[in-house]
Amino acid sequence: KPIVSLKAISKTFSNGTVALSDMALDIRQGEFISLLGPSGCGKSTALRIIAGLATASTGTVDWPSATYDPDGRPDREIGFVFQEPTLMPWATVFGNVWLPLRLKGISKAAARADIMHALELVGLAKFAESYPRELSGGMKMRVSIARALVTQPKILLMDEPFAALDEITRFKLNNDILRLREQLGWTVVFVTHSVFESVYLSSRIVVMAARPGRVVAEIDIDVPGPRG
Ligand code: ADP
Ligand code: ADP
Repeated sequence: KPIVSLKAISKTFSNGTVALSDMALDIRQGEFISLLGPSGCGKSTALRIIAGLATASTGTVDWPSATYDPDGRPDREIGFVFQEPTLMPWATVFGNVWLPLRLKGISKAAARADIMHALELVGLAKFAESYPRELSGGMKMRVSIARALVTQPKILLMDEPFAALDEITRFKLNNDILRLREQLGWTVVFVTHSVFESVYLSSRIVVMAARPGRVVAEIDIDVPGPRG
């Protein structure tokens, strides 16, 4: 049973732009899916709809095994990594990674072990007391990845996370992501317009085209195995 299932998703913005047309996608445990396509083909829109940051005009997003919070909202257990690291400049690295736990009412003391573990995973434990302005672009992005994984989300959604970085930093981060994927068995949806990144990182590439945004091909990369 998939973690998330998109069925016949279409999205038309109020100005009439049709961003997505009849998109279907099942996301299964342990998959690393790249949404690949040119600018404007609806990749970000699809990711935002999965995250609940935007609503579809028609179609449904099912979370077949989701649990529900006391207000009856599905507890989506998502980590979202934006194109920009979006760190709070006035907080330390530690404070930034604490944020999603703080929003759940978890104190700094109770969160400490989880925060330090997340920072270790991205190689930045030594920088816990640093401020974002003291870090390179690649390090800031790694903090933003630590912040997304500190809650141990079921799915990590990444929206062109490395677009603003130079090629070498980007390549290093790709390797970090590969290592973390193997270490943690992540389920990831990764938006990119880089063919290289999609082939290098994914178990499945979902190719999209524009006007209107739609899926035109799906390519399985991993040899089918026990991970299913
Ligand atoms: P991608 O991530 O593939 O670049 P987007 O999902 O950002 O594509 O955008 C898909 C289409 O929807 C584009 O034509 C874009 O201009 C349009 N679009 C995105 N957001 C809005 C919005 N808030 N209002 C109107 N049109 C939008
Ligand atoms: P990135 O590629 O992540 O942007 P670099 O590896 O180019 O960062 O490093 C930028 C600077 O930060 C260098 O001076 C590097 O020594 C330092 N640096 C980056 N990551 C670490 C780390 N995990 N531990 C110590 N220093 C680091």
